[in-house]
Amino acid sequence: MSSPYDAIVVGAGLSGLAAARTLCQRGLSVLVLEAAPRVGGRVCSASVAGAHVDLGGTFVGPGQDRIIALADELGVDRYPTYGTGDNAIRRHGRTSRYRGTIPPVGVGNLLDVARLQTALERLSRRIPAGRPWDAPQAAALDAQTLGSWLRERHATAAAQALMAIVSRTTWGCEPAEVSLLHVLHYIRMCGGMDPMLDTEGGAQEEHFVQGSQEIALRMAAELGDRVRTGEPVTAVERSGGESGRGVRVRTGQGTYQAARLVVAVPPALRDRIAFTPELPHGYRMLAQRWTPGVLSKAYAVYAEPFWRSSGLSGQGLSDTGPAFITFDAGPPDSSRGVLLGFVGGDYARQWDDLPPAERRARALSSFADLFGPQALEPIGYTDQRWATENWLGGGPTAAPGPGCVAPYAPFLTRSVGPVHWAGTETADRWSGFMDGAVRAGERAAREVLRGLAATGAPAAGTAALGASA
Ligand SMILES: Cc1cc2nc3c(=O)[nH]c(=O)nc-3n(C[C@H](O)[C@H](O)[C@H](O)COP(=O)(O)OP(=O)(O)OC[C@H]3O[C@@H](n4cnc5c(N)ncnc54)[C@H](O)[C@@H]3O)c2cc1C
Repeated sequence: MSSPYDAIVVGAGLSGLAAARTLCQRGLSVLVLEAAPRVGGRVCSASVAGAHVDLGGTFVGPGQDRIIALADELGVDRYPTYGTGDNAIRRHGRTSRYRGTIPPVGVGNLLDVARLQTALERLSRRIPAGRPWDAPQAAALDAQTLGSWLRERHATAAAQALMAIVSRTTWGCEPAEVSLLHVLHYIRMCGGMDPMLDTEGGAQEEHFVQGSQEIALRMAAELGDRVRTGEPVTAVERSGGESGRGVRVRTGQGTYQAARLVVAVPPALRDRIAFTPELPHGYRMLAQRWTPGVLSKAYAVYAEPFWRSSGLSGQGLSDTGPAFITFDAGPPDSSRGVLLGFVGGDYARQWDDLPPAERRARALSSFADLFGPQALEPIGYTDQRWATENWLGGGPTAAPGPGCVAPYAPFLTRSVGPVHWAGTETADRWSGFMDGAVRAGERAAREVLRGLAATGAPAAGTAALGASA
């Protein structure tokens, strides 16, 4: 058994690392235990044919102040998402061009989309950020799904199809699967649908030159040997019951003690840790009901961004799939052309299980439908299926179904004695995004500091960031 730490953090995603970094900066002794062999969790960058690609979290935008400030501090640079020219849309077997976020689906459908957006935003303003269960008629809103609400509102088929694109990209699920209360809370936490969905002025405005995982790698480098990878936490014992002053944390490699614990894993993954005494019922239900969505990514790398010379932005929508929404994710110096295709919800459930060559062929065919036959000849290709990741189980974020938000969301953040909760799902702004992950980690760190101060527990270590643990 190791000597006690002030705090142990479970999970070295952006949230866990941000929590550990904050605690270390305050002079606390910290240990981070990460199950996977790498840090970053749902951010993971790779190099394909000489281009950086972000296999998970990629984009940031205005209002995402915490991830942007952290990246700035760590020297990870941003550049704008390429958006010059026309967007492409594949609909009913035909490809056409359009400008802006909403495609040309006919005046009636456009009016319908505007009507639905206004209604969703009006409803979302009634949801208190971070406390969806306190919203007026929370249970009734939670009893509906986005899909049932759209049908009840007599949304046109085209408007429903557009909302399905939003649902697959944002939660990795179909509209019929996600609680309306969750959708409204999410919109509230992003400050509206435009900030959530737009490229220019919205959450897709910029990405990181060195890749988003670089932020996690630089935090881990600062933390040094305080971070242990390949060491899943299997059990947590709280000594002294609910008001316990400490925890004993078990992994396959050892047992560690700490005054406080921050669990920074997705809600469903909490269930893989055996707590003694057992967590109250609501926590167990949260872990079972807040399952992750299914969102995969396909990247094709080309010698040059050939679509730009035809006046195309690389942004596209397709009703055929499997890549149903695309972006130009090329490097800032345009030395390569990079098309990113999202494959989510039902599309991902079919595509994820295909053999690699078949996945590649189908993704490239989606790109070719939108940008022409040159898309079939990339110099590099990769894809990432997040649902197959053992220690994550999916992405981009949890997609709670009807009846799962009002009763169980309170257990996202409510600490249990010395156990505190982080992870993007626990954020009260930009939850589901990298920004939410950082906010949640920093909030959990503040809880630990307050908790230690309240119990009068002296900080066991004084190691400042940069020194060895
Ligand atoms: C395909 C995709 C696209 C996305 N696009 C964007 C985007 O463009 N912009 C954006 O802002 N966000 C995006 N996101 C979301 C963003 O990546 C996440 O919100 C964020 O990275 C979550 O960070 P986290 O630290 O909360 O959780 P995670 O990154 O999930 O970290 C949790 C960590 O805990 C570890 N762990 C789990 N169980 C245990 C255990 N028992 N013991 C030890 N360790 C454990 C996991 O291995 C993992 O490393 C996307 C995500 C995906 C998957």
